[in-house]
Amino acid sequence: MSRMAPKARSFGTEVAVATTARSTLSIFAHSRGVLSLLMEKVIIVGSGCAGLTAAIYAARANLSPLVLEGRQPGGQLSTTTLVENFPGFPDGIDGPQLIMNMHQQAETFGARFSYSEVTDFEPRNNHVRIKADDEWLETQALIVASGASARWLGLEDEQKLVGHGLTSCATCDGAFYKNVPVCVVGGGDSAAEEALFLTRFASKVYLIHRRDKLRASKIMGDRVFANKQIEPIWNTVVTKYVPDEKGEMRAVRLRNVNTNEERELPVACVFVAIGHEPNTKAYQGKLETDPDGYLITRHLAESKHPGVFIAGDVADRIYKQAVTAAGSGCAAAMDAEKYLSGLET
Ligand SMILES: Cc1cc2nc3c(=O)[nH]c(=O)nc-3n(C[C@H](O)[C@H](O)[C@H](O)COP(=O)(O)OP(=O)(O)OC[C@H]3O[C@@H](n4cnc5c(N)ncnc54)[C@H](O)[C@@H]3O)c2cc1C
Repeated sequence: MSRMAPKARSFGTEVAVATTARSTLSIFAHSRGVLSLLMEKVIIVGSGCAGLTAAIYAARANLSPLVLEGRQPGGQLSTTTLVENFPGFPDGIDGPQLIMNMHQQAETFGARFSYSEVTDFEPRNNHVRIKADDEWLETQALIVASGASARWLGLEDEQKLVGHGLTSCATCDGAFYKNVPVCVVGGGDSAAEEALFLTRFASKVYLIHRRDKLRASKIMGDRVFANKQIEPIWNTVVTKYVPDEKGEMRAVRLRNVNTNEERELPVACVFVAIGHEPNTKAYQGKLETDPDGYLITRHLAESKHPGVFIAGDVADRIYKQAVTAAGSGCAAAMDAEKYLSGLET
């Protein structure tokens, strides 16, 4: 019997399919209790670029990996539209399509998928236990590729606008907004960095911050203030996104937190730069993390526990790109394969 989820796709707007698949899985849950006595060779947590690349490599190494997809099957790329910087696609490719290709490629070589969410983790002497949807699973090797979720503002229709003039990544989407006004929301180093990067494309970059000074380092702040294309808007919050009739961002509504004065600011894209939340709750206190919760790796993909490997944005506070996540997924799977070969000898 297989632990595979039904072959339902669940990217982007097809969330309902994922929900159905999840409930189908819960029907199978009692029979999976028997299966949990089995020892998996490789479990991969996450099905973004890192997890899926790890799955392709592990599957092609004949390890029949089990991929636990969590709440966002396909990961962050499944929320965006055109991706122009993933090598091999000269005309770009839709994020969800790229993810579906990777998923299919992994499945072709024998990867299995389940929509389970991992909530706990226990490293043992020569294997690992993880709790997935209230069931403990055992595996000889584990690859953690659970990503980092961008923090958003929590405004109305926010998730609908992602990829339509709302994003969290200037490197990814800046080049789409040439000679038009855009805004960055945030006041830390990454907001300053995003604003500076965007001046290469946009006609004007508004930097909207709820306080009266930046939290960014002095050197980044100085660069921002020296750049005439950037206009800081202090003591101000975004209260509403204003899309046009096609559903693309047209403007934001702003409120000055001191005066309560409201106004509309025309922008073609909003870059939200208020940080990311690494998805590492299950590993807190058990794997090494930095103060912000990002996992710490050695030699690219190793953790402090033999048999536990790490890939993608869950350990990357700098690059956060599909191709770097995929690269580290490859490294994690190759390291896991070498580790498993070592156990056999
Ligand atoms: C709007 C947007 C646009 C972007 N555009 C581009 C672009 O054009 N080019 C580019 O290179 N990059 C882009 N990126 C960045 C890119 O998407 C990420 O760098 C990449 O997706 C990271 O891959 P990952 O596999 O490490 O993590 P993610 O893609 O974050 O995937 C994490 C996976 O882990 C799963 N998971 C999380 N917690 C658990 C758990 N407890 N149990 C089980 N599973 C779990 C999630 O469900 C998900 O499947 C964009 C990001 C965003 C948000």
